[in-house]
Amino acid sequence: MTQLDTAPLVRFAPSPTGYLHLGNARPALLNALFARRYGGRFLLRLDDTDRERSTEAFAEAIAEDLAWLGIVPDLRARQSERAAIHDAAAERLKALGRLYPAYETQEELERRRRRQLGRGLPPIYDRAALELTEAQRAALEAEGRTPHWRFKLEPRTVTWQDLVRGEAHVDCASLSDPVLIRADGSYLYTLPSVVDDAEMGITHVIRGEDHVTNTGVQIQIFEALGAATPVFGHHNLLTTAEGEGLSKRLGHLSLRGLREAGYEPASVRALAVLTGSAEAVRPVASLDELAGLVDLAHISRAPAKFDPGELDGLNARLVHAMPFAEARDRLLAMGVSGSQAEPFWVAVQANLGKVSEAADWWRVVAGPVTPAIADPDFIAAAAGLLPSEPWDGETWKAWTTAVKAGTGAKGKGLFMPLRLALTGLEHGPDLSDLLPLIGRDRAARRLAGETA
Ligand code: GLU
Repeated sequence: MTQLDTAPLVRFAPSPTGYLHLGNARPALLNALFARRYGGRFLLRLDDTDRERSTEAFAEAIAEDLAWLGIVPDLRARQSERAAIHDAAAERLKALGRLYPAYETQEELERRRRRQLGRGLPPIYDRAALELTEAQRAALEAEGRTPHWRFKLEPRTVTWQDLVRGEAHVDCASLSDPVLIRADGSYLYTLPSVVDDAEMGITHVIRGEDHVTNTGVQIQIFEALGAATPVFGHHNLLTTAEGEGLSKRLGHLSLRGLREAGYEPASVRALAVLTGSAEAVRPVASLDELAGLVDLAHISRAPAKFDPGELDGLNARLVHAMPFAEARDRLLAMGVSGSQAEPFWVAVQANLGKVSEAADWWRVVAGPVTPAIADPDFIAAAAGLLPSEPWDGETWKAWTTAVKAGTGAKGKGLFMPLRLALTGLEHGPDLSDLLPLIGRDRAARRLAGETA
């Protein structure tokens, strides 16, 4: 698909009952990137009809986490504010005879299911409620029973052209009539979602393949309401390498957990959408570029397996290529001096897995560093040969050449004691870059054994 007739309107519809995790980032991004690719708009719709579990704090966290990912919704809505529209649709379905009251308790339904299974029959709701006479209904209500409401499915196969899966089918004859309204009058997810998609003119519903069966049912509801059916696309779900789904319980993969751990949003984006696609999982800094890479038709149907450890590698690659301008504000916020920030970034970026680790290297530059000195005579001789300032990228070479000539030390025996004395560490960025940042004064003090 390269062009659409009209600009798409897509939606991401989380329930504000928990923090978004990496698995939710996939549909959020697939929708946002689709809108970006085809010049459309993205709606953030909070599916908050579950009043008990939905909270304002989670609603705010969702918006924040999306913003961190780079997703700024063009439109926002809350299902809880749209009850009148849902009610009107429910009344229409009732008038059409497609939404009918049923009075069975959970226990009664369970008993029936067991009986059906015992007889080798599929455990489908038997529609006993449709046989009730007016008088029987009145009697049940007089007993104090309030009905729940079921949608009467037409016993046929629903077919659609799925953006990801190609031709898709759901055999609605093998499903129970779904409950749309609970006995307490509250809606389950199914109806409000259809009504809002229809009423708000959603053109494409892009969501996880765990919703495929819902789609069969929901298409029948769109049709019953006389509404245009959107185009559907069901993407594969992210799973761990062991095939385990990502539930909200995997707290360490919550988007805020990943943010707090210092991962770049671009790394999380790449892992969330390129895994299980035709593209190699690699760092992609810009959203436009990522939008150009992600084609729903090329998403695999197999589970999108990933290893959370991949994030470290992705993030490191991204940081190694990150232009100074992008890192600048964060470096200044960690106390890196403005005049040294750019050469410092160039010196250390290849040693970083995360931008936040630059703070450790800044401490090596600005101190305090406790030098590690095993051979004080050698270090004293080296200190005596420190060149005078100004220092630049050639100073390290000039100095070590002089130390080599003066002491006879060479190779690792020359460089390692100097590195240990100057940084207290065995490994680190190139000293040609680091030495001018440390400066002569601090270098001399460290060579004298001072913590500086
Ligand atoms: N609230 C639903 C969910 O989070 C939305 C599914 C959909 O996109 O229709 O699963």
